[in-house]
Amino acid sequence: MNTKEILEIGDQYLMRNVGRIALAPVRGEGALLWDADGNEYLDFVSGIAVNSLGHCHPAVVDAITRQAKELIHCSNLYYIEPQALLAKMLVEQSGLGKAFFCNSGAEANEAAIKLARKHAKLKHSPEKVEIVTAWQSFHGRTLATITATGQTKYQKGFEPLPGGFKYVPFNDLDAMEQAVSATTCAVMLEPVQGEGGVNVASRYYLEGVKMLCWENGALLIYDEVQTGIGRTGRFLAYQHYGVEPDILTLAKALGGGFPIGAMLATNKVAEAFQPGDHASTFGGNPLACAAALAALEEIIAGGVIENAAAVGVYMQDKLRKLAEKYDYVKEVRGLGLLLGVELAIDGGGIVNRCREKGLLINCVNGNVLRFIPPLTISRQDVDRALWLLEEVMDSIKE
Ligand SMILES: *Cc1c(COP(=O)(O)O)cnc(C)c1O
Repeated sequence: MNTKEILEIGDQYLMRNVGRIALAPVRGEGALLWDADGNEYLDFVSGIAVNSLGHCHPAVVDAITRQAKELIHCSNLYYIEPQALLAKMLVEQSGLGKAFFCNSGAEANEAAIKLARKHAKLKHSPEKVEIVTAWQSFHGRTLATITATGQTKYQKGFEPLPGGFKYVPFNDLDAMEQAVSATTCAVMLEPVQGEGGVNVASRYYLEGVKMLCWENGALLIYDEVQTGIGRTGRFLAYQHYGVEPDILTLAKALGGGFPIGAMLATNKVAEAFQPGDHASTFGGNPLACAAALAALEEIIAGGVIENAAAVGVYMQDKLRKLAEKYDYVKEVRGLGLLLGVELAIDGGGIVNRCREKGLLINCVNGNVLRFIPPLTISRQDVDRALWLLEEVMDSIKE
């Protein structure tokens, strides 16, 4: 089928729950993507920070193919070898104690919220239920996670929302001090807010939040669904800060493109979940775990995180130099290969023109261009992307 045919069927039969772009990708390899009409794109969206090894990495394809021939699904009634091995690997890499597996970021955060509530009920009091999150955060699309998300646009129309959530401005320690009290069960933060505009937490902030949590018997939850698995140039973004969480969530890049989410917790906190407290039919199935194991082995041992750190600095420097040319650029920011360019104008036009030239980027918060290429991206591909971006930005200037 060509693009027009795919769009026609999609428009007739798919719910309009997302604003779709008129592009139908059919094949990918590394940082390249091809649509149904044979057009080629340099992909700096990566399925929204999912394809960290690029499209269809051979190690992930092999692992999925091999596992699919052995066992695809069997249920968490039983022990699953790749799941046990994946838990071991994530625990060793994260400094936390135990893992739970699910299928998405929202489910990982939902599990984190449930664990934090259960922990507070067992270890403290039934009134200790409040979860503090940041404005501009993004934690997912289930009812509890849109409520945790500090952006009213995701909540509107879905009321009544679950109770017990409170919001504070990000990176504002005074506001956090006002918000956290004896009734706070947890604080949930992204070390770098992704969907909210690529906002990087300061070390001072995370250190202060950790202290407030400690003083008030509250847990610190990091949502590393977007920042985790090497995206920021460390395995986990929090490792840049050295401020350890009690609970940490992962998804997006974890499966090398295959859907899987994880919620990790310290041994002490994990004890709050007893048999029967939480589960998922598909969570941690053999196929997803085999894909994740292969992706992690490649990311950890293959020099991928080091590349993300080095090329991330290179790209951020180049973006800064580029930004100087345009008075409509307000700020360049980010960590590793999670980069944002905040504009004084709407970013949608630039995104569309880049796509017409064969470069995929996206825009968050209306005016922040976001760059999330594969972590394996080369300097040459970054040069090519920025050259295309410059052409587009020049045309806006004129
Ligand atoms: C994408 C994202 C989520 C939601 O993940 P889904 O897999 O879409 O449910 C949660 N938190 C953060 C920080 C994200 O970037």
